[in-house]
Amino acid sequence: MNQKYLCTVCGYDGLKEEAFDENGVGSYDSCDCCGFEYGYSEDHEVGLGYIVTPKEMLGAAFQLYRKKWIEKGAIVAHPEYCSKKFQENGR
Ligand SMILES: [Zn+2]
Repeated sequence: MNQKYLCTVCGYDGLKEEAFDENGVGSYDSCDCCGFEYGYSEDHEVGLGYIVTPKEMLGAAFQLYRKKWIEKGAIVAHPEYCSKKFQENGR
């Protein structure tokens, strides 16, 4: 199984697991590019004011995280994994 999944936050297409399963449970896989950890970051690093971010607010959480990430300089979490091509073209 070599399927890769798209990061909803930054668009990086190298996630090893689907971000959320059919029950909405996060994969706890973190994106090699933006560092967003599905199942964790939307609750603990975004600061929307929820203990557990409701499903309907996930889109807003992703946008907020992306905005913060770009404001901090869009630092690639693991450049050794996140392909160079994506780093140059993906922003
Ligand atoms: Zn990402």
